[in-house]
Amino acid sequence: MAIPALRQPKLSGNLDDSSKIGVGEAQNVILTLKDSKKVLVTSDAYQGIMKTKDMFKCIFCGIDMELDTNYKDNHINSAAHKHRMRTYPHVEDYGENLIRKLNSKLCFCTICNIVVLYPFLKHHIAGLVHTTELKKALIRATAYDA
Ligand SMILES: [Zn+2]
Ligand SMILES: [Zn+2]
Repeated sequence: MAIPALRQPKLSGNLDDSSKIGVGEAQNVILTLKDSKKVLVTSDAYQGIMKTKDMFKCIFCGIDMELDTNYKDNHINSAAHKHRMRTYPHVEDYGENLIRKLNSKLCFCTICNIVVLYPFLKHHIAGLVHTTELKKALIRATAYDA
């Protein structure tokens, strides 16, 4: 019996190579994992940018920025930031959970756009907030890919 050919992922290989980012909505990125699973996350979450009440924070570079989108975009496109992103790749073992290890104590969950203490990571991944966000991220990626 013929199995309908799955669409070849347009993107494959290292998750963190920016050339492999698919185009979704302007503010979203679709990541294609090694197993061809696709996950849609916001551009900010992918870039490690957290928005607080009055500033943007870059998790990878450890800096605060004015709440100014142009400033943020400039930062994202800076060589220093791109270099840092490569320093914190998504950990392959966590697959679609999109976990980056920041140091021995902290991880960054791209799906939820939050920093998680390493000892609580398993708990976080199994938790309702994360599983709900992950489900949405997978469904959205499929919708965009249609
Ligand atoms: Zn940065
Ligand atoms: Zn999470």
